[in-house]
Amino acid sequence: MVQGRLAKKTKPLFYMEIYHENYEMNATHLQRCFNFSPGPATLPEAVLHRIQADFPVWQGQGASVMEVSHRSTAFMALAAKVEADCRRLLVIPEHYAVLFMPGGARGQFDAVPMNLLPATPNAVANYFAVGVWSQVAIEAARRHAQVHIVASGEDSDYSEIPDPASWSFAEQGGYCFFVDNETIDGVAFQTPPSVPEDMPLVTDMSSSLFSKPIDIERYGVIVACAQKNLGISGITLAIVRQDLLDKARPYTPDVLNYTKMAAQQSMLNTPPTFPWYVTGLVFEWLLAEGGLARIAEHNQAKAAQLYAVLDDLDFYRCPVQPAHRSLMNVVFYCPSPELDAQLVAFAAERGCLNIKGHARKGGLRLSLYNAMPKAGVATMVEVLRTFAQQYG
Ligand code: PMP
Repeated sequence: MVQGRLAKKTKPLFYMEIYHENYEMNATHLQRCFNFSPGPATLPEAVLHRIQADFPVWQGQGASVMEVSHRSTAFMALAAKVEADCRRLLVIPEHYAVLFMPGGARGQFDAVPMNLLPATPNAVANYFAVGVWSQVAIEAARRHAQVHIVASGEDSDYSEIPDPASWSFAEQGGYCFFVDNETIDGVAFQTPPSVPEDMPLVTDMSSSLFSKPIDIERYGVIVACAQKNLGISGITLAIVRQDLLDKARPYTPDVLNYTKMAAQQSMLNTPPTFPWYVTGLVFEWLLAEGGLARIAEHNQAKAAQLYAVLDDLDFYRCPVQPAHRSLMNVVFYCPSPELDAQLVAFAAERGCLNIKGHARKGGLRLSLYNAMPKAGVATMVEVLRTFAQQYG
C-alpha cells in the first residue's frame, strides 16, 4: 500500500532526515483510512490536528508539551483541567479520587487486590469470568488472594453473560470485579451486576469508559487504560471511592498505590505527560461533541447498523447472543478462515483497516470507539454487503 521509496543513503542519522531528504511522498501517504483497531485505536481527527498545532511550541512555553516539567505551572494547570473535565463528563462526585496511573489496565489487575484486600492469607475476592480479559484479571488476582468465581461464561465460549440466577458470591469477599466490555470476545454487561450490599463493585472499563453515561456511585473502583476511548497508551485512569483508600498492602509498589498516588495528585513519580495531555484533548473533544449521552446515541446507532447487516446476510455469523453484544467491539466470522483472511484484505483495499480478530478467537472484529466516524461504519457496511455478494 505504501508507495514511497527509500533511496540508499550510507549513514542516516535521524529518521526525520531520511524522511525529508530521501523519501518520495505521494498522496497515498497522506490518506487517512478508517481504522477499526481495538487499541491503540483511532483518535478524533480534531485531536490529531490540535496536537500538530501544539508543536514545536506549546502554550507559549518555548518548548513542546513533551519537554516541560510535570511540576511547571503550565503542566499543573493542564492536569487540573483534565481532572475537572473528566469529572464533568462522568459526573464524578467529590468523594471519589481521580488518578492517572502508569502500568496500563494489566497493572490495575494487580493494583486492585493489592489496594483493596486485607493482608491475610485467606482473603477472598469475587470475579466474573466472562472473557479473555476477565481471565487475565483472575490470574493476576490469584497472585494476591483466593478468587471466587461468581459466574463463568466459559461453557458458552464467552458468547453470553451468564444468567444472574446462576451467580454465587463469597459473601466475605473483599470486592466483586467484572470486565464491563470484553474487548476480545465482544460480549458486554448491559447494566452493572447487582452484588451483595456493602460489597464494593470494581470494574475494568478499558474499552467502554466514556462511551456512555454511567452511574459512578454504583462502583467502588473503575479502571481503564487510555488507548481506546480516552487517548493513547501510556496512561491509565483509576477512579477510586475515598473510603477504599488507606487499605493498601505494605508490598504495594508506590506507583500502584491508590492512597499514595492520590496524596501526590498522581505525580508521585514523573508521570506520562504526553499521554496525559492527549487525554485532556480527547476530553475537550467529547465535551464539544455534547458529552456522553450524545456519544452513546452515536455509538448505539453505529453498532446497530453493523449488527443489522451481519444478521441480515446469511453469509456472516455473530457468535455473541444479541442481548449481550458489545457496542464497542463487533466480533463475527465468515463461512471459513480463508474467507476471513480475504475479507481483511478486501476491506483494506477499500480503506477499512485492522479488522482481523484477536488470535485467541480468530475471525474478525470491528472496534467502534467514539472516534470512529459514521462514514467509517457506512463504508464498512458497503464492504460487508459487496463481499458477501461476491463470495456468498
Ligand atoms: N482490559 C481490557 C478490557 C482491555 O481491552 C485491555 C487491552 N486491550 C486490557 C485490559 C489491557 O490493557 P493494557 O494493555 O493497557 O494493560
